[in-house]
Amino acid sequence: MRNTVLIDGTWQERASTSAVYNPATEEVVGSAASASVEDVDAAVRSARRAGIDWGRTDHATRADMLDEVHARLLADRRLLVDAIVAEVGAPVAVAEEAHVDLAIELIASFARIARDEPMHTTIGNSTVLRRPAGVVGCITPWNYPLYQLAAKVGAALAAGCTTVVKPAELTPLSTYLFCDALLAAGLPPGVVNLVPGQGSVVGSALVAHPGVDVVSFTGSTTVGREVGRVSGEQLKRACLELGGKSASVVLDDADLTAAVTGSVEAAMLNSGQTCSAWTRLLVPRTRYTEAVELAAAHADAMVVGDPLDPATTLGPVISGRQRVSIAAAVDGAVARGARLAAGGTDAIAERGHFLRPTVLADVDRHDPVARDEIFGPVLVVLPHDGDEDAIAAANDSEYGLAGAVWSADRERALSVAGRMDTGQVDVNGAAFNPLAPFGGWKNSGLGRELGRVGIEEFTEMTSVQM
Ligand code: NAD
Repeated sequence: MRNTVLIDGTWQERASTSAVYNPATEEVVGSAASASVEDVDAAVRSARRAGIDWGRTDHATRADMLDEVHARLLADRRLLVDAIVAEVGAPVAVAEEAHVDLAIELIASFARIARDEPMHTTIGNSTVLRRPAGVVGCITPWNYPLYQLAAKVGAALAAGCTTVVKPAELTPLSTYLFCDALLAAGLPPGVVNLVPGQGSVVGSALVAHPGVDVVSFTGSTTVGREVGRVSGEQLKRACLELGGKSASVVLDDADLTAAVTGSVEAAMLNSGQTCSAWTRLLVPRTRYTEAVELAAAHADAMVVGDPLDPATTLGPVISGRQRVSIAAAVDGAVARGARLAAGGTDAIAERGHFLRPTVLADVDRHDPVARDEIFGPVLVVLPHDGDEDAIAAANDSEYGLAGAVWSADRERALSVAGRMDTGQVDVNGAAFNPLAPFGGWKNSGLGRELGRVGIEEFTEMTSVQM
C-alpha cells in the first residue's frame, strides 16, 4: 500500500489516500496518496529548481541516465507486469507485451536517440539550438498507464526537461514502481516528481500552474479540450493525445480472413481500451456477409476471463462505470436496429467488470455507435462501395488517430493510406513502430509523441546566426 507523494527526491507520506481495485476481482490491490494543490505547487517548484542543472546536462549524460533507468525497469519487469495485471486487468501476455515491454523499449529508444542524434541543426548561417522547454506536467490515463508514462517522461528526460507526473486515479501502482526505478537509477532529486490524485483537483492544478511550461496530456477529448483551453490562456504548449474511432479499410483485393481477424484482434486488444483501436471495420459490400461471419467467429473464439490464466485473451474492462457505459452504447445500437453478430451485454461473471467481445452489423454509418468512441470491446462492421467511398467513410469522423488499410497491392494501399486524415495507418497489419510519430488529427489531439519528434515536443528553438 502506498501513501506517498514524491517531491524533491523524497517520498513524503500523506494522510489522505485512495484505494486501487482489481477490475477482475473487485478487490483492493493497493492504494495511492491523494495529493493536494499545495503538493502540486511544491512539486512544480522542485522541478523548476532541478531543471537548472538537469537542463544543462549534455546529451550523453541524459542517455546514460536513461540507460540506467532502462536497466532498472528490466530488473523490475515482473513487478511491473504484476502491477498492470492487478490495476488494469490486462491478461498476463498483454500486460507483458503491450504494456511493460513496450514501455521499457520506449526508454531504450529515447536513450539511443539522445546519444546518437544531435538535436541541433544547421540552416545556412544559422545554428538552430533545440533547448529544454522547462517543466513538463505529465497527465496519464488508465488504459496503458506505464506505456503512456514512459512515452512522456522518457522523452522529457531526453530533452533535458524536468517533470511532475499525475497518474490516473484508477491505475497509479505501476507509476509508483516506475518512479522507484527512476530513483534507484540515480536520477537527481526533483527531476521527476509524482503527485497522484483526482484529475479535477491535482490534474487541473498542474495544468493551471504557471511554473509548468508544457503539458503532456493523454486522456479523453472532453478533458483534453479543457486542458488545451487553460494552457492556451497562458500560451503554454499542450501536447494532447486524445480519443479515436479509427477505421480499418479492407480493399477488394485484400486477404479477407487476414484483414478481418487482424482487425478484430486490434479492436479487442486490452478489452478494446486502446485509443488507437480500429473500431470501425469497412469491408467491400460484396463481401459484407462473409466478413461479418468471420469477425463474429473470431470474436466468439476469444477467451474472456481471469487475467492470470494464460488461456485468457480478454480481461475485464477497467470499472463498473465503464462497463455500464459500454453496455449502454451496445444496447442502444441494438435498440436502433443494429444486429448483434457476436457478444452482447449479458453478465458473464459474478465478480469483475467483464464483457464479451462484441461485433455489431447492419449499423447505419451515422449511428452514434459508428461515430462515438466507446472504449470497450466493440467492433462495428460497415460495408463500403469501393476505394473512394471507403476513404470518405473513414474520414467522416470527428477523430483521426489511427487506421488500417488491407490490400494485395502495396502502392494502392499506400495511396489510400495517404488520403486518410489520421495520425497512423498500418498496412496489412504491419508492426507498431515505437520510433514513428504518434498522435492525432482533429479531435484526437495536438502534437506527437514517441521517437525524435516526441523529444522535440519538449524543446524550444533558438536560432543563432553566425
Ligand atoms: P480522462 O480524460 O478522464 O483522464 C485522463 C487523465 O486526466 C487522468 O489522469 C485524470 O485524472 C486527468 N484529469 C481528469 N480531469 C482533469 C482536469 N480537469 N484537468 C487535468 N487533468 C484531469 O481519460 P481516461 O478515462 O483516464 O482515459 C480514457 C481516454 O483516454 C479515452 O478517451 C482514450 O481514447 C484516451 N486515450 C488516448 C490516447 C492517445 O494516445 N491518443 C491514449 C490512451 C487513452
